[in-house]
Amino acid sequence: WGGGAGGEQGGAGAPRAASGAAAAQLRRRLESELEDIRGAGTWKSERVIASRQGPHLRLAGGGAGIINFCANNYLGLSSHPEVIRAAVEALEKFGAGLSSVRFICGTQSIHKDLEEKIARFHQREDAILYASCFDANAGIFEALLTPEDAVLSDELNHASIIDGIRLCKANKYRYKHMDMQDLEAKLKEAQKHRLRLVATDGAFSMDGDIAPLREICQLAQKYDALVFIDECHATGFLGPNGRGTDELLGVMDKVTIINSTLGKALGGAAGGYTTGPKPLIDLLRQRSRPYLFSNSLPPAVVGCASKALDLLMESNAIAQSMAAKTQRFRSKMTAAGFTISGKDHPICPVMLGDARLASVMAEDMLNRGIYVIGFSYPVVPKGKARIRVQISAVHSDEDIDRCVEAFTEVGRKHGALP
Ligand code: PLP
Repeated sequence: WGGGAGGEQGGAGAPRAASGAAAAQLRRRLESELEDIRGAGTWKSERVIASRQGPHLRLAGGGAGIINFCANNYLGLSSHPEVIRAAVEALEKFGAGLSSVRFICGTQSIHKDLEEKIARFHQREDAILYASCFDANAGIFEALLTPEDAVLSDELNHASIIDGIRLCKANKYRYKHMDMQDLEAKLKEAQKHRLRLVATDGAFSMDGDIAPLREICQLAQKYDALVFIDECHATGFLGPNGRGTDELLGVMDKVTIINSTLGKALGGAAGGYTTGPKPLIDLLRQRSRPYLFSNSLPPAVVGCASKALDLLMESNAIAQSMAAKTQRFRSKMTAAGFTISGKDHPICPVMLGDARLASVMAEDMLNRGIYVIGFSYPVVPKGKARIRVQISAVHSDEDIDRCVEAFTEVGRKHGALP
C-alpha cells in the first residue's frame, strides 16, 4: 500500500499507490482525519536534530548551538562517553541483534547481567527486560490480574498504563488524580475482589508532581492491596541514591512492583523493565505477551543501560548536580514572576493557561536559541497550557540562566509577565 520497489530488482523505485476502490476510500478517509487534526490545532510536527542528544543541539537545516530543554535526558547520559563506549563494545562483542525473542535464541549473558543489575539497583528480587516501558506496561496487568481481581488507577496515569489496563480483564477503578479520599472510597468498593492492585506513575510527566506514595502505601496496607509504580520519570535521580520515588518517600519495602524505562535517565537508548518479586518475574517470562512475542533488546542498548547503572551505583554526584540545577531554574523563574508546577522535579512546567500564548512563546524562545515545547489541550486540560522545561545534569549554570533570561524577555513581550 503506497510502497514497493517498482518492479526493479533490488532497486528503490518511486512509491506506488495501491489501486482499487477500497484503497481510494481509505486514502480519502485518512486525509480527512489528518485535516481534522490540523484544524483542531493539535498537529504534532517533528523537529529534526542533526547532532547527538545533549544540552546543545544542531537542528537540521541550520540552527546550531540551540540549548535543549525538552529531553528526558535528566542525567545527560545519552551522550556520556563511557556509555557510548560500552555500547560500541557490546555491539562488537555481541553483534547487532539477536533475530529472536528471548526464549528461542535471544538471551545473551549481557541480558541476564542487566536484569540482575536492575534488580540490585532497585533492591528487588528479580527483573525482566522489555523492548520499552510501554511494552512492560502493556504486558503486566493482563499477565497478573484476572476477572476476580481489581486494579485502581490514577486518572492521569501514562497512556501505556491505561492501555495495559485495557488489555486485562480485571475490574477497573479510576481514582481522581492523587486524591487519597477517592482512592480510599474505591479501595472500599474493591474489597469484594480477590486481589487489589493500586497503579500510579511515581512522577507525573505533565505536571512534574510526585505521587503521594507514603499515603498510597498506608491505604494499600489498610485495604490489603498491592502497589505498582511507573518510575520512568524517577529512576536514576529521585531519592538520595537515585533509586526513585519509593526511595525518596521511604517506602521501598512497601511498593511491590516497579516498571521503568532505560530510555530516559538511564542512557536514553530504549528498553524497559519490570522489577519485583521473583515469582512475578518468572510468571511474566511465561505469560507476558510483549516479552514472549517481541525481539530481544539489541546488545548496544543493553551495553548503554548497563554502563549507566554502573555510573549511578558508583556515585550519586550526577543526580545531585541535576537537583541543584533544577533548584536554580525553579527559584529564578519563580522570582521572575512565573508559576512553575510541581516541586523539586526536573520537569518544570511553566504554567501559562492560554494555548496560543504557550505556542507563540515556545516559538519565540527558539528564536532566542532555547528549545522548549508548549503543551495544550488535549495533552493537558483546557485552560492549563504550559511550556514544559526539563532540566539535565549536563546543563551549565549559564544555560539555565540564559533560559530564564529568554523566558523573562519573551514573557514580557507576550504579556505573560507584567
Ligand atoms: N511510562 C511513562 C510515565 C512515560 O513517560 C513513558 C514515556 O514517555 C513510558 C511509560 C514509555 O516508556 P518507553 O519510552 O520506554 O516506552
